[in-house]
Order: sequence, then structure tokens, then C-alpha cells
Amino acid sequence: MAESAEQVHARVMAAADADGRMPLPSVAEWDIFPWEVVDGALAAKPLAAPAPEKPRMGEDGVDCTICTPEPAGLIWTNDRWRLKHLAERSGLPLVVMLEPWEHLDFDDLDDAMAAEYGRLAVRIARIVEGLPNIGRCHVMRVGDGAEHLHVWFMARTAGLPSVLGSFAVDWDDILPAGPEEPWREDLVALATALASYDGRAVGLDD
Ligand SMILES: [Zn+2]
Repeated sequence: MAESAEQVHARVMAAADADGRMPLPSVAEWDIFPWEVVDGALAAKPLAAPAPEKPRMGEDGVDCTICTPEPAGLIWTNDRWRLKHLAERSGLPLVVMLEPWEHLDFDDLDDAMAAEYGRLAVRIARIVEGLPNIGRCHVMRVGDGAEHLHVWFMARTAGLPSVLGSFAVDWDDILPAGPEEPWREDLVALATALASYDGRAVGLDD
């Protein structure tokens, strides 16, 4: 089972500096990070001038790194969809990604695939939110980086009032990763429960 809020807080405080702060994550240096310090005060950055949209990774399926017959981190699959964990654990207790096997963007889904996506998304969120010490499972399709559909399911710890709403995504980068064993237990529990509806759980790799 995932750590409790008290366990997460104690672990993070042990890793933090004397003021209880973790180091700034790299996202703070990204061009699209919207805040900066001006004259000692936090301020919103000026809105950048209009510019052409940049091509996303794998446009039209060309050089798409998500199109692979053997995706790393696979925990569940059926003939059309797969669920995987990311390469490394992160600050939130459980982060998984749902992708179609075929190179499809969100608006490429036909009615049958859209209906199946909806059922899977609800089932995954329901299962994750039923795990101990999980407060909510946030579901996100962003899609600005890669064309191949990849939907994020990000579980936050129950009872940590800082880690709430859309800012839970930032805390995923700020907080140090938790222990591996409960993370793997929750991945197995998720894959096994999802397979009770459809598809099959597959062995966890590294
Ligand atoms: Zn693809």
C-alpha cells in the first residue's frame, strides 16, 4: 500500500533543507514555466508573442517513439489499449499512462475506441482511487508534446493539503520518489483489478 500522508511528510522533511524545502525541479527553468521572480517578488512572465505551432513528436506516425511493439513499463494490455508506468518513480505515489497500440491522437478515436477509452478511464480512476492512502486520481490528456495519444493517471496522497488540484502535477516533480515496494504492489493491484474487467495484466519489468 502507498505511504500515508504522515509517512510521506516525514520522508520529505528528512530529505528537505532546514526550512523544509526541496530543491527547485527542472520545470522551473522551462521556457513555458509561467512564473519568475522580479525585484524579489514572484510575478507572471510576460505573454510571449504569437508564433507558429511547433511540430509534435511523431507527427503522422513518423519517428514516433510511442509506436513500439514492446513498450517499457507495460502492466496491462488488451488488443487495442495498453497501460504502463513511467521509466522512473516520481513524487506522487502512482502515475500510469493509457495509450492505444495504434498511432492515434485523441480526436482520431472512432466511436468504438472512444467508448472503450471512456470505460477504461473510469475503471482505472475507480481502481486507483480505491487503493489505500490515495486521495484522488487525476486524469489528463494534454498532447502538446507527442501526437500519439497518452493519457496520464496521476494519483495523489490523501491528506496532504499542499498536493491538491492541478498543482499536484508540480508536486510530482518536487517531491522525492517514495519506496519501490509499495509502488510495485499498487501497480500489480491496479493491473490485476483492471484485468478482471478486460484484457490481461502483464509482468512488471524494470
Ligand atoms: Zn505513435
